[in-house]
Amino acid sequence: MNRFEPTYLRLFKNGILKRRVEALVALLEECTVCPRNCRVNRLKGEEGYCLAGRNPYVTSVCDHHGEEPVLSGFNGSGTIFFGGCNLRCVFCQNYQISQKPQYFRRFETTVDELAKNMIELQNTYHVHNINFVSPSHFVPQMVEAIYKAVPLGLNIPIVYNSNGYDSVEVLKLLEGIVDIYLPDFKYYDNQNSKEYSGVGDYVSKAKAALKEMYRQVGDLKVDERGIAQRGLIIRHLILPNDLAGSEKVLEWIT
Ligand code: SF4
Repeated sequence: MNRFEPTYLRLFKNGILKRRVEALVALLEECTVCPRNCRVNRLKGEEGYCLAGRNPYVTSVCDHHGEEPVLSGFNGSGTIFFGGCNLRCVFCQNYQISQKPQYFRRFETTVDELAKNMIELQNTYHVHNINFVSPSHFVPQMVEAIYKAVPLGLNIPIVYNSNGYDSVEVLKLLEGIVDIYLPDFKYYDNQNSKEYSGVGDYVSKAKAALKEMYRQVGDLKVDERGIAQRGLIIRHLILPNDLAGSEKVLEWIT
């Protein structure tokens, strides 16, 4: 069996992971964690578009058996759902946890608890990976938790499962930390992304983000069991009346 050796262990040992945490947390002071660039001081509890402050909202932690088969494998994908979001998709299947603050605020937690959640998924449920869902607005907290989980024994791949509206500068700070990128590419038309997801520059931002993700991890690699170890998987949701521009999205990907 191929033995997975996470790069983040090396980054922890040589001090780079600590410096990445510091650089990412500093972004919260005048938040530019995602392309919205709200510039609110989240370290003082101010909130921007995503309604996230200093602490993460973690609405669900589970061994997910319905993810992409290369991620769920036999034991499940260790899925951690963040509350809040930097988009407002009218078709969101997780509407309560992404857009209803009166619901997701109840799930405020700490990065220490988040680190323990990861270790429990790995050691108790034997999941194949840690799969952060909607992490774009909580990247600093996600990396802080990884940093705290390494001394506790974390040693499985990290999946970054996002809507594609990510900052390239922030993604660069994830190089060597994230093993598998799992972004959406939702639209090929900014009018539609504005109307149905509340963001008018989705196309250029998502293209830049996906290129950076691919630069870091390349094509998908699986082990001999067929379980993903590293690489990029792009998801695309087909919308009625071709609102997602599916043909153009697929042409761009290929
Ligand atoms: S992460 Fe939230 S507060 Fe920060 S720029 Fe994005 S939407 Fe605004």
